[in-house]
Amino acid sequence: MTASDSPADCPFCAIVAGRLPSSQVYSDDDVVAFLDIRPVTTGHLLVVPRAHAASLAELDEHAGARIFTTAQRLAAAVRGSGLPCEGVNLFLADGAVAGQEVFHVHLHVLPRTTGDGFKLSPQFRHPDRAELDANAAQIRAGLPPR
Ligand SMILES: [Zn+2]
Repeated sequence: MTASDSPADCPFCAIVAGRLPSSQVYSDDDVVAFLDIRPVTTGHLLVVPRAHAASLAELDEHAGARIFTTAQRLAAAVRGSGLPCEGVNLFLADGAVAGQEVFHVHLHVLPRTTGDGFKLSPQFRHPDRAELDANAAQIRAGLPPR
């Protein structure tokens, strides 16, 4: 499958094409943003590329940039909307193990308020510098060419 295919069973492609309803907030040639139907907090938005991409690896960098800048603008919009919003998280799950449930890339815009109940529960590690440097070298070696 290429990034431009629109699988018939992809709910976000169906929303982009207007075959499924959505409470849309923003749309342009590259991206569409709409309210999550299972919001974690009031005003929880999803920003998706128009072109189907199942994962970050399939998403072209232009679309990735457009998703982020759109989320940035939507964060400002939510803060100014009158909906409860004291802060914002941007969250993207890439891969099932990361919590991705719909395999069309989507960036969550999560309005946050004190006591809203949303939390990540990381177990922070404390690696030494040698391990950090070795990890950095491995990641540098995996950078795709520009
Ligand atoms: Zn799709």
